[in-house]
Amino acid sequence: MRQTLVLNASYEPLSTVSLRRAVVLVIQHKAIVEQAHPGLRVRAAAVELPVPQVIRLRRFVKVPFRQRAPWSRRGVLVRDRHRCAYCGRRATTIDHVVPKSQGGGDTWLNTVAACAEDNHRKAARTPAQAGMRLLAQPFEPTPADALLLAVGATDGDQLPDWLPLPGAAASA
Ligand SMILES: [Zn+2]
Repeated sequence: MRQTLVLNASYEPLSTVSLRRAVVLVIQHKAIVEQAHPGLRVRAAAVELPVPQVIRLRRFVKVPFRQRAPWSRRGVLVRDRHRCAYCGRRATTIDHVVPKSQGGGDTWLNTVAACAEDNHRKAARTPAQAGMRLLAQPFEPTPADALLLAVGATDGDQLPDWLPLPGAAASA
């Protein structure tokens, strides 16, 4: 996977993100391209861009995202890329794996993105009690997830026509 280096507004290197996420940050005006692969272009959401090797955030981000990101509902949706943990369809809600009524907390490891239907079906039960299975286990957000949260970018789910042009490496 092609990785793009992200600089803070102060030019301090922060992290690397996937090409797809780098393009999202540029399209959402959170970052500008500092350095690009010569001759390569990507097209996404009707915008054509050089393939960024290095991008720089427009605004200085104080949150050092090597540090653990604070839990939030939006953060869970970004981490899980708006995919339901039970069926894989688009998720708009978050589910407590161990329900709050059974002592489950607001933590990264106890919450997953869920579609409204599965969230309703599971109700105040654990997956075992509801006879439902998690497609993947919840995890602490990656530094790239934490960066998107820190700059207020969304995860780029709304880029249906993401299309690397010939010569550009595919990304995920
Ligand atoms: Zn679902």
